[in-house]
Amino acid sequence: MKVEHYVGGAFRADGEPFPIIDPVDGTEAGTAPEATREVVDEAVTAARGAMAGPWGAASPQERSAALRRIADGIEARFEEFVDAETADTGKPRELAATVDVPRAIGNFRAYADLLYGRAEQAYNTVVPGWSGSGNALNYTVRRPLGVVAIISPWNLPLLLLTWKVAPALAAGNAVVAKPSEETPSSATLLASVIHESGLPPGAFNLVHGHGAGAAGEFLTGNPGVDAIAFTGESATGAAIMRKAADHVTPVSFELGGKNPALVFADADFDAAVEGTVRSSFTHSGQICLCTERVYVQRPVFEAFVAALGERARALEGYGPMISAEHRDKVLSYYRLARDEGATVVAGGGVPAFGDRRDGGFHVQPTVLTGLPETSRAVREEIFGPVCHVAPFDTEDEAVRLANDSPYGLAATVWTRDLSVAHRVAPRVEAGIVWVNCWNLRDLRTPFGGVKASGIGREGGEHSLDFFSEPVNVCVQI
Ligand code: NAD
Repeated sequence: MKVEHYVGGAFRADGEPFPIIDPVDGTEAGTAPEATREVVDEAVTAARGAMAGPWGAASPQERSAALRRIADGIEARFEEFVDAETADTGKPRELAATVDVPRAIGNFRAYADLLYGRAEQAYNTVVPGWSGSGNALNYTVRRPLGVVAIISPWNLPLLLLTWKVAPALAAGNAVVAKPSEETPSSATLLASVIHESGLPPGAFNLVHGHGAGAAGEFLTGNPGVDAIAFTGESATGAAIMRKAADHVTPVSFELGGKNPALVFADADFDAAVEGTVRSSFTHSGQICLCTERVYVQRPVFEAFVAALGERARALEGYGPMISAEHRDKVLSYYRLARDEGATVVAGGGVPAFGDRRDGGFHVQPTVLTGLPETSRAVREEIFGPVCHVAPFDTEDEAVRLANDSPYGLAATVWTRDLSVAHRVAPRVEAGIVWVNCWNLRDLRTPFGGVKASGIGREGGEHSLDFFSEPVNVCVQI
């Protein structure tokens, strides 16, 4: 497919082409155009124009209908989206067909639905009251922020892009989106669906290109941008925040993680093993919510390590790392872990397939033990199919180990004891704590991280809160 920018309602492909690499076999699958500063500026200008035109005046009901048309449009081209997502990321087709693309549709429908509930509530909150100088009627209207820059990563390209685009449009903003340079295809298809849906020109714009010193930075530094919603690495978030400080631009950040799982001795053993296989190895560990630190209560520690190692060695059909660079980064952590004294229970290297995949960027699902908590492989986000398993004795120790991290995105607790679950979950410093499950998501619930894992919450009302501002109107009676 042809990867193009979408600016002011028109497709264009100006800018130096850069290669899109198929991570399954390392071959060049196509190119994408690198947006210049001029292209980015035009996209922001087009978005400002849309806010001053019919899109800025659209009612919540009209916006809701627009989101439904976009959801229907993705559904009608479901297979094309699965193809694009699979080609860019190398993820198993089944994953794209059961998670990424359905969730993209779900994101638009969820916010289309929510807008109706919201229209009756926060958009028209009436608070009769009084002020020092007499009676007054106060009410609150919610106003969109204006032009929102959305910058997304490569791991769940369509899911995470639409997770922000849908609520941003629902709240009445115009969007300029920049997907990851590694995965530009599904975003281009989305632009095509949005174009066909009849959204007013400029309400949604898409620019391609790299981040630092390129399209991403041109976008976040543009004074015409009223808010930045970003998902990616914590270090990138910090760089964007510095840029945003120049114009006091509000940010919503979903950043990295080093997520713990706490397995208590009373847990359903098989469920905890299977759950950890899923939470550590789904999408080859390239999900921000994946578990990289597993703490297991001592009576079941040895058995758990053995079972997890066996399952990791038996995994088949897993996808590659997104790029040669990322593969090298993950392998450097495998080496580092060995140097730091780890026991490699499973994996630790590169698989040999004897087919075209040997040219790609696969690494083995890996289980480690024996590292001190101070080691870099235990403290730093690797973002690959790897976890380190360590024992604990008491509940307090488990909580302390879970919280001994600069990150705080997600955690998983495995226990059959309800009291343990309810005591431990709120003590873990994370935005999301799953009990006896992982990545079970209701799109209305708050999603986000604490500490270096993010700023703000997305999901349901929380996203609409970020993408709009309450304006208090006070009428003296
Ligand atoms: P990344 O930070 O390298 O890139 C993300 C996006 O930011 C890309 O579009 C990139 O081009 C852009 N970018 C890079 N530098 C920029 C700059 N200086 N200014 C503006 N834009 C810039 O992240 P990645 O490697 O694509 O994604 C993996 C990371 O994302 C991991 O750390 C993972 O944990 C995190 N992540 C977090 C969540 C979450 O919800 N918390 C979800 C998915 C991924």
